[in-house]
Amino acid sequence: MNKNKKMFYLIIFGPPGSGKGTHSKKIVEKYDFVHISTGDIFRNEMAKDTDLGKLAKKYIDKGKLVPDNVVLKMLFSNIAMYENPKGFVLDGFPRTIEQAEKLDETILNKTLNTTLVISLDVTDDELIARLLKRGEDSHRSDDNEEIIRQRLEVYKQQTKPLLDHYKQKKVLKSINGIGKIDDIFADICKIIDSHKK
Ligand code: AMP
Repeated sequence: MNKNKKMFYLIIFGPPGSGKGTHSKKIVEKYDFVHISTGDIFRNEMAKDTDLGKLAKKYIDKGKLVPDNVVLKMLFSNIAMYENPKGFVLDGFPRTIEQAEKLDETILNKTLNTTLVISLDVTDDELIARLLKRGEDSHRSDDNEEIIRQRLEVYKQQTKPLLDHYKQKKVLKSINGIGKIDDIFADICKIIDSHKK
C-alpha cells in the first residue's frame, strides 16, 4: 500500500446483528471501498480448515473474541495487500481497546488519514430477534440463542467502551439502526459524503 497517500478509513461499528455487514456491502458498492470484515476472514479460514481457522473456531463457537495478537496480525496483513484503494470499510474491527490503540498507532494517528466511525444503535431485543432469524438461514455456528447472548455480553464488556474512545477523538457518529435498510443507508451516505468533502 502507498503509505504517502491520504486514505479514508470508515469503521462501521455496532453490536452483533446491528447491520454492519449489510451496510458495509452497500457502502463498498457505492463508494468502491475495500471491505475488511474480520469475522468473514475467520469464517473463510474456518471453511478451509487452516491453522488460523482452527484456532479462531475455538473462540468463535463459544461467542468469545479471538485473541488480539491473532486479529491484529491478520488485519494488518490484509490491509497491506491492497495497492491503491479508495478507502477501507472496517467491519467487526476494532473490538477491544488494545485493537483500537494499535489501529490508532499504525494508521489513524497519521495526519494524512481520515477516520470516521459510524455506530449503529439497535436495542437488545431487536438484535436477538435478528440474529435468531439469521441463524435459520446462515447456519452460522454462533447464531444460536445461548451464544448470541454471550456475544452481546462480550460486546457490552469489551467493545462498547470503544464508543468513548472515538467520541473523545471527535470521529464518532451514531445513528438509529432500526428501520428500513434503505433509510438507514441514506443516513450513512449523508455522513460519509459530508466527511469526504
Ligand atoms: P462477526 O462476523 O464480526 O460477528 O464475528 C464473528 C466472530 O469472529 C466474533 O464473535 C469473534 O469471535 C470473531 N471476531 C471477529 N472479529 C474480531 C475481532 N476484531 N476481535 C476478536 N474476535 C473477532
